[in-house]
Amino acid sequence: MALREIRTYPDEILNKISKPVTEMKPRFSELIDDMLETMYSSGGVGLAAVQVGVLRRIVVIDVSPEADSPMVLINPEIIEMDGTQTGDEGCLSVPGKHGIVTRAMTCKVKCLNRDMEEVILEGEGLLARCFQHEIDHLDGKMYVDKVEGELENVYQEDFDEEDLED
Ligand SMILES: [Zn+2]
Repeated sequence: MALREIRTYPDEILNKISKPVTEMKPRFSELIDDMLETMYSSGGVGLAAVQVGVLRRIVVIDVSPEADSPMVLINPEIIEMDGTQTGDEGCLSVPGKHGIVTRAMTCKVKCLNRDMEEVILEGEGLLARCFQHEIDHLDGKMYVDKVEGELENVYQEDFDEEDLED
């Protein structure tokens, strides 16, 4: 495993649309391992392949407090959303910033797992927010375009472990 460089806004690759994965090649498996390592070492709760410069529809997420429950989503598609939540959001590709974004409160996703088996994942609250944020990345969309009000700076003294940095 290796750390990969995180592309940061306004790198134009972040606005590109990622391609589906049709078979689990060794280089994608290695990419997934690297994405997990990169996400954990950056203290994030989610990372899309485009954020490390690979235009493939692969997302890794871990919203567990112990950071020990990795999820791998390949070719994810949102199939159901319900309710709304308004809260703070950040992104490893926009370091030092955060802003308020309204998202669906619950979100159901159809995707493939690492073994390329179809699975349905259901999220609520932070996990639902994360699904929506990461799947937006696969379509070249950034949360900064959805922020209500101003994008704000994160100050070290305000740092809260619950701040979402995905
Ligand atoms: Zn992001």
